[in-house]
Amino acid sequence: MAISHIHIGTNQGDLRANLRAAIDKLEAQGTVLDKSHIYETEAWGKQDQPNFYNMAVTYETKLDPHALLKLVNDIEDELGRVRKEKWSERIIDLDIITYEDKVISDDTLTIPHRHMTERNFVLVPMIEIAGEWMHPTLEKTIDDIYVECLDRCEVIFIEKGI
Ligand code: ATP
Ligand code: CA
Ligand code: CA
Repeated sequence: MAISHIHIGTNQGDLRANLRAAIDKLEAQGTVLDKSHIYETEAWGKQDQPNFYNMAVTYETKLDPHALLKLVNDIEDELGRVRKEKWSERIIDLDIITYEDKVISDDTLTIPHRHMTERNFVLVPMIEIAGEWMHPTLEKTIDDIYVECLDRCEVIFIEKGI
């Protein structure tokens, strides 16, 4: 078994229901050990679109990293994600942020996630469930990475749990 942290974002349709559906599908293939609260953020990178709901989960899985990527891509497809231009609006987006302390960089998969250090909307929910997790190449915790992050996007606490 391995521990991975997965970030889930959505800005189309019923945002709460989309997060719930993604978690249910993860639960069907492994164990969601912990969940952050939900946070609302403005879109990052491409701004002319609705705000996002974001959260992060700690996921216990027997899948190897590439099989986990296939699982999250399948979940996105099952929930009806239509792939449009980069960073455009979407029903659901599941990004693998960490997988144990593995470092992977190939054509399909980068772990830890390549933009995690630049995104408050990833770091804030991650702090709740993995603040002490150590980035294997930066040798900094999530807490430390957040303190140093220059992103000024606001991340608004929505409510407890899902
Ligand atoms: P970003 O990666 O900047 O958050 P995005 O989530 O909008 O952008 P997608 O269109 O969802 O990008 O994904 C594009 C590709 O990114 C996926 O097909 C996948 O192969 C690749 N990818 C690389 N590393 C990861 C990762 N850690 N988690 C999920 N997808 C990844
Ligand atoms: Ca993403
Ligand atoms: Ca993605």
